[in-house]
Amino acid sequence: KAPVLEIRDFNVDYGLGDQAVRAVRDVTLTLHRGEVLGLAGESGSGKSTLAYGVTRLLPPPGVISGGSVIYHPPGDQPYDVMGLADAELRAFRWAETSIVFQGAMNSLNPVHKVSTQMLDVIRAHEPQLTPPARVARAKEMLKLVGISADRMDAYPHQLSGGMRQRVMIGMALVLEPQIVIMDEPTTALDVVMQRQILAQLVELRERLDFSVLFITHDLSLLVEFADRIAIMYGGRIVEEARSAELYKDSLHPYSEGLLRSFPALRGPRRELSGIPGSPPDLRGMPSGCAFHPRCPHAFDRCSTEIPVLGVPAARNDPNRSVACWLPGRVPVA
Ligand code: ATP
Ligand code: SF4
Ligand code: MG
Repeated sequence: KAPVLEIRDFNVDYGLGDQAVRAVRDVTLTLHRGEVLGLAGESGSGKSTLAYGVTRLLPPPGVISGGSVIYHPPGDQPYDVMGLADAELRAFRWAETSIVFQGAMNSLNPVHKVSTQMLDVIRAHEPQLTPPARVARAKEMLKLVGISADRMDAYPHQLSGGMRQRVMIGMALVLEPQIVIMDEPTTALDVVMQRQILAQLVELRERLDFSVLFITHDLSLLVEFADRIAIMYGGRIVEEARSAELYKDSLHPYSEGLLRSFPALRGPRRELSGIPGSPPDLRGMPSGCAFHPRCPHAFDRCSTEIPVLGVPAARNDPNRSVACWLPGRVPVA
């Protein structure tokens, strides 16, 4: 599949100089056209920082300290989002990517009708459309997310939580973006709602052909719906694989730990144990593999050398990568 967004050697700091802490470290990750890529990891692993960094929406004191983000517009030359001037960046954000922030479930404006809010977005970003064309677009999008015409003139409080959620997806898709980024679109605890959102996105992307980066710390959700999954720990991607393979045969001990934190979806029962210890502190990142203080398999090399993310020698499958020093998982040179 063709790439739509290539994140390369991406680094983000909070603060400057001596005060700086690095929250995203050397991240290289590709989103392909039409795929749903899941990003999972415990709280503080850098998922939101990465998402806001690549769209250049990082609030201060966040600073992008290196890397590139190559966007491939359909049928046009790729370009680096990091090199865009402000005006171009605004255009990119709206027309090409749409990001739904963490906990944005209640971000609909309570004093305006759903239809008004959607029409405002269309008017602001596609001023060339005539008013009837805008209405048609808004109707079409609401219908697509399962909001019938008679609910269009409702105010957000008149809709159920599930419907507000669908409106929110509709808002994210109304400008027909190439990329949709959803960062824990409901409260983190509301996994039932996240599941509904993700199921709906998966269905819609078949029809609308956009790509999705879905961020959650609920890995079971991603195993079920995402095409591929990337696992983040201490600001780095530590494993990347197709969902089914990650589930059956994860290679990074941290991924194994996350998978043991929820009951088996199918097949034999697994022992539920979770991961002992807590995520690393940015101010005192462990040496070598950041996971080593919690890793049941750690050995000498783990505390001295940072494992590089690459195709594991034992699998020799270009579609997966892992960053771990265990035999067979060390990348092919
Ligand atoms: P969660 O699952 O809780 O949303 P996350 O994976 O999205 O976590 P981030 O919010 O990206 O994690 O945070 C990554 C790291 O950056 C954390 O250690 C966090 O404390 C730190 N961080 C985030 N925002 C700031 C800030 N404004 N100033 C300083 N440090 C920050
Ligand atoms: Fe565990 Fe070592 Fe692999 Fe890190 S490199 S995950 S500490 S075995
Ligand atoms: Mg977050």
